[in-house]
Amino acid sequence: MKDLLTKTALELADMLASGQITSVELTQACLDRIDALNPKINAFLHVDREGALATAADVDARRAAGEKLHRLAGIPIALKDNMVARGMPTTCASKILEGWLPPYDATIVVKIKEAGLPIVGKTNMDEFAMGSSTEHSAFGPTLNPWDVERIPGGSGGGSAAAVAAFMVPLALGSDTGGSIRQPGAVTGTVGAKPTYGAVSRYGLIAMASSLDQIGPVTRTVADAAALTELVGGFDPLDSTSLNEPVPALTQSVTEVAQAKSIEGLRVGVVKQLTGDGYQDDVLAAFNDTVDQLREAGAEVVEVSCPSFDYALAAYYLIMPAEVSSNLARFDGMRYGIRVEPTEGPVTAASVMAATREAGFGDEVKRRIILGTHVLSAGYFDAYYGSAQKVRTLIQDDFARVFEQVDVLVSPTAPTTAFKFGDKIDDPMAMYLNDVATIPANLAGVPAMSVPNGLDSQGLPVGFQIIAPAHADQKMYEVAQLVESLSDDIAGACPAAQWEEK
Ligand code: GLN
Repeated sequence: MKDLLTKTALELADMLASGQITSVELTQACLDRIDALNPKINAFLHVDREGALATAADVDARRAAGEKLHRLAGIPIALKDNMVARGMPTTCASKILEGWLPPYDATIVVKIKEAGLPIVGKTNMDEFAMGSSTEHSAFGPTLNPWDVERIPGGSGGGSAAAVAAFMVPLALGSDTGGSIRQPGAVTGTVGAKPTYGAVSRYGLIAMASSLDQIGPVTRTVADAAALTELVGGFDPLDSTSLNEPVPALTQSVTEVAQAKSIEGLRVGVVKQLTGDGYQDDVLAAFNDTVDQLREAGAEVVEVSCPSFDYALAAYYLIMPAEVSSNLARFDGMRYGIRVEPTEGPVTAASVMAATREAGFGDEVKRRIILGTHVLSAGYFDAYYGSAQKVRTLIQDDFARVFEQVDVLVSPTAPTTAFKFGDKIDDPMAMYLNDVATIPANLAGVPAMSVPNGLDSQGLPVGFQIIAPAHADQKMYEVAQLVESLSDDIAGACPAAQWEEK
């Protein structure tokens, strides 16, 4: 592999700024590596060679002409395939959207284009972001670059694998119940879900709107900070967008990287997210890092959030309810494929039914049926109403413990990467991967996963940091501290040894 591709986005940005490399060279190196590795790990569903190289050439020309550019100008980026860019195939890894070309740009895409980052392509995912392994992609799973017999996490396994395998330095994911953080944990990458509303959802194809949030997938905390600053900020096109300035994340991260400590930091270990059901060496790695935080001067206390025990149950009622409503728009009339019934009259209803039957996979159907049921007149109060009450209790738990501590910490996922096929036939086992990530989505608070060493089999472990709403800066500070205290594992990924021609 070219040395260039092992560099972080911010190192590459410096090399571009000083004229050591051009964006065309860098983008071509990424495209070559994608060409060589994608047949093996299936991280990309679509690669836009011409578009990416055209952006790169344009940025190079503007730089040569002395134009003042964004710090990340010229750095290649990949987008999860549920974010729209005009004219670029977008499927959400579903057959129902095959062949659809979006007629507009998501707000994050507008910002990326304005800043001049070449978009190299769209990454694989579980269909409509439903899953924890990418095994629910209609176009085949993505393979984990750490061990190709294992899952790369989900739903954003494609973005995480692409970054872990050095195909691209930056990617964006979406996190409804953990789809940025859990893939981050099992691929040794950094993944963050900002405070709800901090990054515009306009042009993110909705899964569950009250939970969805776009965030960065990178190899370092500083890169995640820089990318979030680029895509974040108020957007009048998203009614849930926060009208407040983008926090100075890069600055916070730089200060902590230098000091290697945080004055007066109070860390809460969540009792409910560190006990039964967690793999032994995941807990051991977690406890080691907590000890290191203590040695670095943090005050560490155990806190209890009893309602977190019901978070998974509440999520699997609220999320399908929103899914059933959001996915009603895929009706064979407006987007993607249209399938006519093989028998009976061709009516609007029969075309919709035939299209949805052929276009959606099993997991998507399961959630639409579940969501429709919990919203139905006779069951609404018992299921959806109760789940919303639990959501409030979870928010109360967060509010109470954040009076005592600045951040909460836990393992990101209960286990390291599992093998393909292990959980695909058991939806409950698959859903349990999200026990630690879901509470943050239900409360809208920011949370991120940073690499936390390797387990006894050499697989990456993730460390989760959760902060109060609007305290993304504090979360990034602690993430940087954890990164500074931990070994750098990225280079240990076997994919580092895979050669492109
Ligand atoms: N794995 C979770 C689910 O299947 C989370 C998905 C996500 O965050 N998009 O719902």
